[in-house]
Amino acid sequence: MKTVAFIGLGNMGIPMTRNLVEAGFEVIGYDLSAAALETAVGHGVKRAVSAAEAAAAADVVISMLPTGEHVRNAYLGPSGLIETSRPGTLLMDSSTISSTVTVELAAAARAAGRRMIDAPVSGGTPRARSGTLTFMVGGDASDVDDAQPLLEAMGQRIFHVGVSGAGHTTKLCNNVLSGICMAGTAEALALGVANGLDPAILSEVMRNSSGSNYALERYHPFPGLMDGVPSANNFAGGFRSDFQLKDMRLAKELANSSRVFSAMGNLACELFALHCSNGHAAEDYSSIIKLAMDLDQYFAGHPVSGGESK
Ligand code: NAD
Repeated sequence: MKTVAFIGLGNMGIPMTRNLVEAGFEVIGYDLSAAALETAVGHGVKRAVSAAEAAAAADVVISMLPTGEHVRNAYLGPSGLIETSRPGTLLMDSSTISSTVTVELAAAARAAGRRMIDAPVSGGTPRARSGTLTFMVGGDASDVDDAQPLLEAMGQRIFHVGVSGAGHTTKLCNNVLSGICMAGTAEALALGVANGLDPAILSEVMRNSSGSNYALERYHPFPGLMDGVPSANNFAGGFRSDFQLKDMRLAKELANSSRVFSAMGNLACELFALHCSNGHAAEDYSSIIKLAMDLDQYFAGHPVSGGESK
């Protein structure tokens, strides 16, 4: 049985470690937040007092941290994961970061006799909970093969997309598209509601028409129309809007450096920046619907019976 060190037990790390434990892996976890670590211990994760302690005891190290800076510091900083892990350890970063950082870390890992793959995910907290994430993996084929049992414990679709860094580049392409789709879906719903349509009926029609997309099918932004998504929970516990903004900015940088004209991505990036500066940075990215319509005003006129409304 492989021992897995898991660094970063937040919205994603918690359900991902639960699935690893349920699949029979020994998981040693670490998070700067004592509360997050406590939650993980509650579902069978062993507590480490530092990332270094977890890494030193593991065959595989997985990181699920907020930004490229967090990831870079965790791997290269003093008592970092490259230095403290054992020679030959497979290091796997599942955070969404720039591939520039990944390539740098993978080279440092290789120079120190460790192996590294980038394996960012899509599917958000609902799919992290159900163990049906999509993994986009960059790195050597033999390392990706070694990671397969772990990836299958947390995900349903695993794509080996290329060399080191290709996973993170794929993830940024996906996230710029999902940000555009979420903002566009929110606007279409707001347009229908402002013109007297029932958002449930409108959603059902668009789901079965050419406007269908992931937001409508699995991650609905309109409160009260779908269970188990952040819009059913006051936009808490999902994918923070400032993380979506981080990804849009990374994609924008990538578009600029590769001379790709990215008008839609740039506009959606501005929309998420405005939304975050309006005080919604910590809310799930589907809360971008608040930029298109006033939900408080809508629900004042359409009271919801029997529980959660927005
Ligand atoms: P989160 O903020 O909920 O969790 C991150 C955790 O990392 C926090 O608990 C924090 O305390 C911990 N942390 C930060 N620095 C640390 C360090 N040096 N050592 C140990 N722990 C540390 O974030 P999340 O939503 O779980 O997202 C994590 C990453 O996954 C981000 O890069 C995000 O873009 C990406 N992602 C998130 C989702 C989603 O739906 N939430 C989906 C796909 C990808």
